[in-house]
Amino acid sequence: MSEISVTAIPAFSDNYIWLISTGGEECAVVDPGDAGPVIRELTQQGLKLRYILLTHHHPDHTGGVAELANCYDVSIFGPHDARIPGQDRSFSEDESVRLPLLDLEFKVIEVPGHTSSHIAFYGHGCLFCGDTLFSVGCGRLFEGTPEQMQSSLD
Ligand SMILES: [Zn+2]
Repeated sequence: MSEISVTAIPAFSDNYIWLISTGGEECAVVDPGDAGPVIRELTQQGLKLRYILLTHHHPDHTGGVAELANCYDVSIFGPHDARIPGQDRSFSEDESVRLPLLDLEFKVIEVPGHTSSHIAFYGHGCLFCGDTLFSVGCGRLFEGTPEQMQSSLD
C-alpha cells in the first residue's frame, strides 16, 4: 500500500474538495462539486485525475463530475443512487473501493441521515464522510431520521 497524501482544495465559499495522491502523477478527488478549482490544482501539481469518489448526490459534491470526466480518463465510484448518473460502479456497505493506479483501497460505510444513500470511504487513516460529520456537528437531515444519523455517526 502507498503513503497517502490528502490536499484540501477550497471550493465555493465554504467547502473543500479532497485531492488524494500517493507521490505519482495519478490522483483521485472526493466530491468535486466544482471542476474549476480541481483542474487548477491538478495543473499546478502536474497531476492526472484517474478516480472520482462520491459520497452523496448533492450538487455541491457532484457538480464538477461531468466536466472532469470530459477532461480526464476517470473512473467514477459512488453510492447506489439513480440521482448520480454516469458512475462506473456503485458500492454498498463493507465493499472495498480499489484504486489500483494509486495502490489504495477504501472500505465503504453506508451512513444514511444527511441523504438516504450517503456513503463514506475509510482507509489509510482517513475518513471521507461527505456531509455526515463536521468538526463541530453533523450534516442536516434532509432525507434520513435522527435515529439513522445517530447510527451512522456511531
Ligand atoms: Zn450534502
